[in-house]
Amino acid sequence: MERVVNSKEIKSILDEHKDKMKLMLKVCVRCTFCAETCFLYRSREQNPKYMPSMKIINSIGKLYKKKGKVKFEELEKMREIVFHDCVLCTRCSCPMGINIPEMIALARRVLRSQGIYYSYDKEPHSIATSNTEI
Ligand code: SF4
Ligand code: SF4
Repeated sequence: MERVVNSKEIKSILDEHKDKMKLMLKVCVRCTFCAETCFLYRSREQNPKYMPSMKIINSIGKLYKKKGKVKFEELEKMREIVFHDCVLCTRCSCPMGINIPEMIALARRVLRSQGIYYSYDKEPHSIATSNTEI
C-alpha cells in the first residue's frame, strides 16, 4: 500500500524557517567551496553526491521548491542524503554564510515528521550521528 505523505505538516515545518531557507537557497552560487570542507566528500573519492551544496539542494531545496508536496519515494531518497551522507559534524563552511548543517537538520526534522529516519544501530554503512538538530 502506498504511504501517504502529510504535505500540510511538512509545509508548516518549512514555513517556520521560510525566510532563512529562501535566502540560503538563493545565495548559493554553486562555487563548490564547501565540498573541500566536507570530510565525507574528501574521503569518498570526491563523489559529487557528498558535496554539501548538493545535499541541501537535493533535500531541503526540493522540499522547499515543491512546497512539501512530495511523494513518499522522494522522501525515502532524501533519507540517505540527510541521515547517511551527512553526519552533521558542522565542519563545512560556505563563504556566502550558508549554514549547511542547519539546512540538513531541518530536512531531517521534516523526514522524521513523516516517520522516516535512519536506524544507525541496525543499518549497514552506519556512521556516527551528531547532536546538531533543529
Ligand atoms: S560554498 Fe556555499 S555558495 Fe558555494 S556551493 Fe557551497 S553552499 Fe553554495
Ligand atoms: S555537516 Fe555534513 S556536509 Fe558538513 S562537513 Fe559534516 S558531513 Fe559534510
